[in-house]
Amino acid sequence: MDLYEYQGKQYFARYDIPVSPGATADTVEEAVVAAETYGYPVVVKAQVQVGGRGKAGGVKLASDRAEAELHARNILGLDIKGHVVKRLWIERSSDIAKEYYASFTLDRSAKSHVCIVSAKGGVEIEQVADEDPDAIVRRHVDPLDGFGVDDARAVVDEAGIDDEAKAGVAEILVKLYRCYVEGDADLVEINPLILTPDGRVHALDAKVTLDDSAAFRHPEWADWANLDELDPRDRLAREKGLQYVGLDGYVGIIANGAGLAMSTCDVVEQVGGEPANFLDIGGGASADVMASALEVINTDEKVKAIFVNIFGGITRGEEVANGIVQALDRVDIAAPIVIRLDGTNAEQGRAILEAHGSDRLESLPTMLEAARRATELAGGVVR
Ligand code: GDP
Ligand code: MN
Repeated sequence: MDLYEYQGKQYFARYDIPVSPGATADTVEEAVVAAETYGYPVVVKAQVQVGGRGKAGGVKLASDRAEAELHARNILGLDIKGHVVKRLWIERSSDIAKEYYASFTLDRSAKSHVCIVSAKGGVEIEQVADEDPDAIVRRHVDPLDGFGVDDARAVVDEAGIDDEAKAGVAEILVKLYRCYVEGDADLVEINPLILTPDGRVHALDAKVTLDDSAAFRHPEWADWANLDELDPRDRLAREKGLQYVGLDGYVGIIANGAGLAMSTCDVVEQVGGEPANFLDIGGGASADVMASALEVINTDEKVKAIFVNIFGGITRGEEVANGIVQALDRVDIAAPIVIRLDGTNAEQGRAILEAHGSDRLESLPTMLEAARRATELAGGVVR
């Protein structure tokens, strides 16, 4: 999950990383109230999950009420690289002497954390990497060793951070590492990390990506869940607690188990069809879960046929079949459904489906045959 800048700053503040005081605003009136509260000059900042807002006109300084109002009006509704601005962050403006860059993230190829620091901040780090790669210091961090003040000092020296900022930057790096590890983030980035003319170092921007797999131990993240940025299919699936990934094809897929769901996508491709999604309903496959899964797939207008691929293990075939039948009574499904049901008590299961006698429902004994039939019903060309 990616956080907005203002959320990232709230998250930084919990780890004692200095940020400017400010408030969010969803209307011009709220923006003016915030500006008056924090005192001029203020910065009016677009809250969208994309970098380069400054260059796109999404970050403006305002020295009085009239300017705050003007910038708020111009930035709300602005389209920044396909992201429409619905919310602003208004903060007290800082004076800038120097702009630096600092981040921690995962270096997957090195199977390690990495700390990245540069004395050239304020521009996109990719641009620095292109133009002046030596200005970027990368240091791998062994999670067992951690990242302490000595490590921070070494990085700061190597990056050529100005003398008056060294202590402040090192202190923030140590806090940033804690926030990255204890806060279960995949990325924490400060660009720019600034030195003010009076010698203070603080975060002027915040980019944070949280590790969704750790959400179970952070109930507080629910406040940040940003469902309106999601594809509507993903949003509904998330609300129903399903493991769903939207794809571009026309054969809707429901399977039990992530491995089987992936294989099902592959087999549909193999026979010439195109999967519309990956959907794993997990081990249980109760009527409730099946109904939710069918409901999610039903909202996808591209879906022309649905392939339900269930291999009964601990879940018995007749339970699954009952689940499907009950789900069909509850959800009005537009597309025809092809079912492959195998494993424990598959025969009883198939008998239940047959007795249901719906002409929208076809049962086939193998995965390959079912994939072909679903592709054919969806109007695809079967190989
Ligand atoms: P980004 O363009 O999306 O990365 O947005 P930033 O939050 O990094 O802001 C872009 C640039 O605006 C920064 O690099 C600064 O140069 C400038 N800026 C942001 N906040 C302030 C501020 O409080 N005072 C001043 N003078 N400039 C700021
Ligand atoms: Mn920035």
